Amino acid sequence: MPKVIENVGCPYCGCSCDDVRVTVSDDGKDILEVENVCAIGTEIFKHGCSKDRIKLPRLRQPDGTMKEISYDEAIEWTARHLIKAKKPLMYGFGSTNCEGQAAAARVMEISGGMLDNCATICHGPSFLAIFDNGYPTCTLGEVKNRADVIVYWGSNPAHAHPRHMSRYSIFPRGFFTGKGQKKRTVIVIDPRFTDTANVADYHLQVKQGHDYELFNAFRMVVNGHGDDLPDEVAGIKKETILEVAEIMKNARFGTTFFGMGLTHSDGRNHNIDIAISLTRDLNKVSKWTIMAMRGHYNIAGPGVVWSWTFGFPYCLDLTKQNHAHMNPGETSSVDMAMRDEVDMFINIGTDAGAHFPYPAVKQLKKHPWVTIDPSINMASEISDLHIPVCICGVDVGGIVYRMDNVPIQFRKVIEPPEGVMDDETLLNKIADRMEELIAKGEA
Ligand code: SF4
Repeated sequence: MPKVIENVGCPYCGCSCDDVRVTVSDDGKDILEVENVCAIGTEIFKHGCSKDRIKLPRLRQPDGTMKEISYDEAIEWTARHLIKAKKPLMYGFGSTNCEGQAAAARVMEISGGMLDNCATICHGPSFLAIFDNGYPTCTLGEVKNRADVIVYWGSNPAHAHPRHMSRYSIFPRGFFTGKGQKKRTVIVIDPRFTDTANVADYHLQVKQGHDYELFNAFRMVVNGHGDDLPDEVAGIKKETILEVAEIMKNARFGTTFFGMGLTHSDGRNHNIDIAISLTRDLNKVSKWTIMAMRGHYNIAGPGVVWSWTFGFPYCLDLTKQNHAHMNPGETSSVDMAMRDEVDMFINIGTDAGAHFPYPAVKQLKKHPWVTIDPSINMASEISDLHIPVCICGVDVGGIVYRMDNVPIQFRKVIEPPEGVMDDETLLNKIADRMEELIAKGEA
């Protein structure tokens, strides 16, 4: 009899939807049906039970081809290279569980290297702003149950977080929001007329890269200086700014969700700084919160796990052995790659081959490159060693942190391909082997 598993977590975006229903075959190896999941999530589950999954590590040969090797050989290769390297970098972690992130911290503490996660190229600027200016945030449940004004600033959930609007922000009927969308005002601020803008009540088509000015204008109005605004700011008419600011001031509970439109454009962390300042100003007259639209389903995880472990969320320098150091710009992955400062690269739970700037990939490629990932991707194809692992949320469970830092227990729904390890087991075996080699003086 096929088995129905309820409350499954979707391992794709920062919504970390945990209401997925999966029907698995009698033998527990196949996924027959997936419900309550968007198109992106569906593909993850389909891929999870594909017969083409990689089952053994593959090592690049002198002639450039890849040859299958055993897990023991792959662990030995990685442990020895990590010990030999002066400044190895392990990067990724958006797509693995917290248990794997903790095991990675152990490996890099032993090796005395650099440890970084995808925040460095994503919401890292938000962290910098939060360090400077605080984080007046809330949980997604509070948004669902209380928010009557929603701002999506520089974010496009219709494409990047497909169920965000229906689960948390616009459409759900919550405890104090029983009329759902009808009683919510939605404001989208984006240079493009996106599909999210299409469902909004207001679309402010800000000039690309001029968000800081627009935040300043809103702050002027909220602080009582609206009359002094010029006729237009950042491409938005004064009357529109005054009208939208009035809606914000009169909100019972408002939330601003921001994304790459702010973190990747001119100003970066300063765009977030001023967004937080506007949130603080609005709290003088209303109740306002702000939230980063974190990308991957567990990219909040390394920030939490490594903060407990070392006191820093990303860009960790563990080379001093007895104390950690963090200074984005100096200890961030792309900056170190561009300066050719690292001499080994481990890509785990991400695809730096596809998503790092090409010059950074070129520099990293000069040195040993290991990819730890369930699938073939650009990183695996340029690696010296590719080690397959389980897919979190599909063939291994674990804790993940949603975009609002709420921890969720993800379930395993099918058996992994025979012999394939999960990240935590693999990394702990690498750490054990490194300790053995160091104890024997073979390092
Ligand atoms: S919205 Fe995100 S977490 Fe939810 S089902 Fe879609 S991809 Fe998965």
